[in-house]
Order: sequence, then structure tokens, then C-alpha cells
Amino acid sequence: MQIPKTITVAHGDGIGPEIMDSTLKIFDATGVNLNYDFIEVGKNVYERGVKSGIEEKAWDTVLKNKILFKAPITTPQGGGVKSLNVTLRKTLGLFANVRPCKAYHPYVQTKHPQMDVTIIRENEEDTYGGIEHRQTFEVYQCLKLITLPGTERIVRYAFEYANTHGRKKVTCFTKDNIMKLTDGLFHDTFKTIASEYPDIESENLIVDIGTARLADTPENFDVIVMPNLYGDIVSDVAAQISGSVGMVGSANIGSECAMFEAIHGSAPDIAGKNIANPSALIQAGTMMLRHLGETRSAQIIQNAWLKTLEDGIHTTDIFSKHSTKKVSTSEFTQAVIDRLGQTPGKFSAVNYEGQKKIDTLELKLSRTELRPSLKQKRELLGVDIFVYWEPENANLLAERLQEASGKHLKLTMITNRGTKVWPNGHPETFCTDHWRCRFKSINERTNQMEINELLHNLTKHTTDIIKTENLYSFDTEPAFSLGQGE
Ligand code: NAD
Repeated sequence: MQIPKTITVAHGDGIGPEIMDSTLKIFDATGVNLNYDFIEVGKNVYERGVKSGIEEKAWDTVLKNKILFKAPITTPQGGGVKSLNVTLRKTLGLFANVRPCKAYHPYVQTKHPQMDVTIIRENEEDTYGGIEHRQTFEVYQCLKLITLPGTERIVRYAFEYANTHGRKKVTCFTKDNIMKLTDGLFHDTFKTIASEYPDIESENLIVDIGTARLADTPENFDVIVMPNLYGDIVSDVAAQISGSVGMVGSANIGSECAMFEAIHGSAPDIAGKNIANPSALIQAGTMMLRHLGETRSAQIIQNAWLKTLEDGIHTTDIFSKHSTKKVSTSEFTQAVIDRLGQTPGKFSAVNYEGQKKIDTLELKLSRTELRPSLKQKRELLGVDIFVYWEPENANLLAERLQEASGKHLKLTMITNRGTKVWPNGHPETFCTDHWRCRFKSINERTNQMEINELLHNLTKHTTDIIKTENLYSFDTEPAFSLGQGE
């Protein structure tokens, strides 16, 4: 017998302890080859004044074991606490969030009986860097960062997932008609990597129409990959329309660590009543067993769980006309245990034998044909200077900036909230106290010394500078967006 692997287990808050006990009981009855190190995270830890929701000792255990199986926690409102989930994802480098959203029709009610979609979401970047600033009295900013290696890794992961899970198509959701650089990078990277997987169909949709179509005809989708924020929203939509949030598990995958959890929260309204549906955590559990290579146990549990569903043995949240018996959490758990070794008759039985594992370490290292972009020639063409300016008069601001600008760079445009207001602005354009002033070199290119001189001159003329953003070209291609109306 192989030496058992040790994983970290957190029972969480609310219904967490009930559904975790249920899942571990099923694991034990199956003879899963695992040891558990238990840690405390969540409400009690926050209430002891630990703003991250996890203590140092627990961190050591998570880092040692590398695999965390976590029940939902209750996040206190306000009080400056940090989201434990975001901290875990970012600290452990869990770059891929995977949510299989499948209908279990007719036993779990859904308008989409054929639905079987896996949402793969980038998990660390985008606006979730949490880099936010209040810049003026009226304007707040959140930075959206999309990186080439981060994008390459998540897109490649999506295609590898399709390959190893018998999936036929990968769809990409972006909004690159508006965000041509950030979402454009995601879309371009998707196209490049898709060409390496000719056996898998690929398509890109704008996220708004893509989500509308997903909600309408999810049977036309297979695997969908997208940046963090869209993925956060779209994966909840997908889970909900597949039947119930109480049925969907998720995996957070990194190159060395991984975390598995239910997608729902701690459900304080039903905590301690022994009525919660443990299915989502059981689903997360079987994803974890497959990740660990415990495919035999994962298969036995999944087939017993499917058989329990089709036998109509249902918890309150999914009880319907197709149910035969309304059961408690512990009765549902026992029903699954009673069916270990059986296969479903109406649902297709799962077979995980011979399943290949995605080599996430390899994904981290693979920066293949996208790398030549590092060899591009980068040149500095100018600078966007963001200023705080109270009077709503772009012409007056332009006059003052032109007076002060000096001899190397000239003012070419002013925008307010991204819309061009100088030269030739329109009085109808609504303006705030936050202005982006674009200066370009009077020659072909400039340098940081010239920009510093410009900033010095403007400051001498009491210009209130909030921040600057250099304007580069890469291989002569301008690498900045135009103003709306420019
Ligand atoms: P929730 O998912 O806990 O509950 C929403 C509704 O779904 C409730 O009516 C609940 O009773 C029901 N529900 C959820 N899971 C169920 C299950 N397994 N069986 C039966 N019914 C179930 O969402 P919420 O009420 O918005 O959040 C409660 C707490 O959970 C909050 O503190 C929130 O921050 C936290 N939360 C944690 C996680 C996590 O740890 N991953 C995720 C989401 C929310």
C-alpha cells in the first residue's frame, strides 16, 4: 500500500463543519488513502483580531501539505478584514479557478437539461490585484492588470483541461472591442495557443453576448476561459442555471499548491440544522482526489453520488416532484455510503481510469512562442499627465499647460473620463475634476530626463499632478489607447 498523502482540512463556519464531516465520512468509507491535518480559519480567527482570517501556525500547515480542502467560511462585514479566499489564492499562486457546472436533469430542476460547461477563470490578476486609489475629490481608480505570462498560463491550462477531460471546444470571453490592449492581449494569446491544439475547436465571444448566450443555450458551450472579473460573475451565473449553487464544487489550481471548495457560502440561515446539501463539497472532494491521482476513489464516490441523486434521495434545497425521499445532511451522506461500489443507471457512470494529469509546473515554465515579444524595441514617445483641476474649462487648462510645458514635449490632447475635451471639445461632455493631459515629443521620441523637466516646469506653475503614465511604442506600434473621439 502506498504511503498516504497528508492534506490540510478546514471545517469553516456555518454549515461548513456539517458538510465537511459528511464528505470526510464518505472518503473514509471509500478507503481513501489520505491523512488530514486540521486547521481553523474564518469567523473565530477574524474575531480574535487576525485580519487575514488565518493564523501563522495554520499557514505553516497549508504550505507544508500544499493541498487545502476548505469548507465555506463566514466573512465579517467591514472592519478592515481581508478576504481569506483572495489571500489564499494569491499567496499560494492558485492561478486557475475551475468550476464544472453540470445539469442533473430531471432530478435537479433546471431550464437547461443538457448543460455541461466548465468555467475556467484566471484567478490572480485583472482588477483583483486590488490596486485602488482615490485620486481627486470626485474620482476613484482601480487598476486592471493583464499580464502575458498570466494569460498564457490560464489559456494553456484551459486547453490542457479540455485535452485531459475529453472536451471538444474552448471558448474565450473578452471585451476587447473596448479594452483593446488588456483584453486584446487575452484574445490574441488565446488565438496563438488555440493554434497549438488543432483537435480542439476554439472561438472568442465578447463577454456580454457570450454570457447572454450561455444563459440561453448553455448546451452550445463546453469549456470557457476568461479573465478574473468576468469569470467571477459568469461562473456564478453558470452554476445557478445548471440547477443549484449547492451542487457545484471548485478547484483553485497552482503550479505547486491547490485548494478545493464548494462554490456556495457558509449559509448561516440553515447552519446547525442538519439540512444542508453536502453535494458541492463532495464534488470539490472528487476533483481533489482526481488531482491527487486517487482516481479510483474519486470514481467510486462520484458514481455513488450520481446513483443517490437518481434514486431521488434529496436534501430540501433540491427536493422536487422527481424526489422520492427528503433527507437530512447525515441521511444523504449515509445514502451515498450505502451506494459505494454501485453505478448509476440513468445518468452515465463516470470512468476516470487512465485520466492524464495536467502538469501545472510545466505550464509555469512554458513561455514558448509568445516570448519573442520580449525582444521588441521599446521607445518612449511621450507621457500622459493626470491632473486635478477644479474649473470645468479644458481650454483654460490647455492654455496654462502650454505656457508651462517647455521645449521638448507638446500638449496634444486633454481628455476627461477618457473623452477628448481639447482640442475641439464639445460643451455637452460632462467633466469631473480629473484630467488626462497627453504630451508627445516634438521629435520622434523622448526620454525620462525630458519628461522630468516637463513635470518640473508644470509643478513650478502650480499644476496639481496626480500621476503620470509613460507612452511607449513596441516595434513602432503605439502601446496606448486613443482618447474617445480622438
Ligand atoms: P450562501 O451561499 O451561504 O447562501 C445563499 C443561499 O443558498 C442561502 O439561502 C443558503 O441557505 C443557501 N445554500 C447555500 N449553500 C447551501 C447548501 N449546501 N445546501 C442548502 N442550501 C444552501 O451565500 P451568502 O448567504 O451570501 O453568504 C453567507 C456567508 O458565506 C457570507 O459571510 C459570505 O461572505 C460567505 N461566503 C463564503 C464563501 C467561501 O468561503 N468560499 C463563498 C461565498 C460566500
